[in-house]
Amino acid sequence: MKVGVLALQGAVAEHIRSIESTGAEGVAVKQPEQLMDIDGLIIPGGESTTIGKLMRKYGFIEAIQQFSSEGKPLFGTCAGLIVMAKKIDGGEEPHLGVMDISVSRNAFGRQRESFETDLEVKGLEEPLRAVFIRAPLITEVGESVEVLSTYNDEIVTARQGHLLVSSFHPELTDDASLHKYFTEMIQANKTAAK
Ligand code: GLN
Repeated sequence: MKVGVLALQGAVAEHIRSIESTGAEGVAVKQPEQLMDIDGLIIPGGESTTIGKLMRKYGFIEAIQQFSSEGKPLFGTCAGLIVMAKKIDGGEEPHLGVMDISVSRNAFGRQRESFETDLEVKGLEEPLRAVFIRAPLITEVGESVEVLSTYNDEIVTARQGHLLVSSFHPELTDDASLHKYFTEMIQANKTAAK
């Protein structure tokens, strides 16, 4: 199984390390053509406006929308979550707009720019150490979106079929259980596609 990590900006190497620790192959994706060779794609954290601009510049918007419409799994973390959302609160133009969620950027405010906590995530056996860095929150979800975890009653992990998002950075700890969960989504998709 090959899992791509969109390598335009942000925490790319860390995601590749986490993916490889699950036994799958991790690939840095720099060109839209590489999407043909991978089974799932991670969109990392960083700065969503910058990632969105680079995606437009290098022809990734339509290519990833197409990848998603084929049912291939996407996993957006932090800025990657913002990039996947249908709606960004405050009126900013959406980027990929593939997932039926609304997000609020930098929603934890200045006092809590970054923090860590142990989170219960539906589908994971153990609580996950979650690192939040100027994190977004999911403020609304569509009917087909399943909430996988909340923090202080706010939604921070969600799934809609083949789409997975987290407000936090799961790649900054040694616990790769959410990456493992994503590889299981990819495996299920590959099996179904046969
Ligand atoms: N605050 C960033 C944004 O709005 C996201 C931060 C992150 O990815 N760690 O794009």
